[in-house]
Amino acid sequence: MLKYDSYYFQCPHCQAWLEGRNLKAEMVNQSILYSDGKVLNDNLITTPQKMIMCPSCSHVFWVEKPAEPFITYEKPDAEVYSWNTWRFFGISFSDNKGKMALINHYKTFLKKSHYDPKKEIYLRRFLWWAYNDLHRNHQHVRLKYLLNGFMSFGVWHCNRKLILEGEKLFLKNHKGFTDNLQRLLALLEKHPDEQIDLELPEIYRELRQFDKAKELLEQVGSRTHFTSEMLRHSKWKDSRVFMVSG
Ligand SMILES: [Zn+2]
Repeated sequence: MLKYDSYYFQCPHCQAWLEGRNLKAEMVNQSILYSDGKVLNDNLITTPQKMIMCPSCSHVFWVEKPAEPFITYEKPDAEVYSWNTWRFFGISFSDNKGKMALINHYKTFLKKSHYDPKKEIYLRRFLWWAYNDLHRNHQHVRLKYLLNGFMSFGVWHCNRKLILEGEKLFLKNHKGFTDNLQRLLALLEKHPDEQIDLELPEIYRELRQFDKAKELLEQVGSRTHFTSEMLRHSKWKDSRVFMVSG
């Protein structure tokens, strides 16, 4: 089943052609929302990748809005780097090494250059999500997930090992996680237009400032499933990212 529209664009430095993809929203089977705002459609992140490292020359460039004339929908008569070669810098996420590599990529980008606030928010949000990816589906380690038949024993066992190992790495890198989140919080408070819904209470919750998270959540006018769940986790003093719906 075809779920994408491909488009093509060129590296501004070496003119190599890269393939991009637009997910066809009407063909998505499953959508998952996490408390940190990350959304997955059929296991793929929906937020577009704006910062690209050319797979041919390693030049880093930004694509704010993939629109014509910068992109074309016609396949060029030249060699094209497929989406997988540059998406998330070509990293494979089948193990925790790949997840750590992504964290280190973002950290290096942030160390190397100075970015305007919008770009820094973008990079720090992706770094935050990358840290959370280490233990994102922590609920899957519970025996419940094996017993209710969602997974075979082999898959559950393998997945469980991966998440528990990820949780250890998350704790080991906790200082980097909090430093990034504190800086992101300061930026978002200064630039409220860049905030995603409920992002601030979630950051406070993940920084273990549960009273502040509860205070902000109680100010939200309409109570939704999302706000109730976040309040519940704040009351439990649980700071881990969780699945809101999916
Ligand atoms: Zn290039």
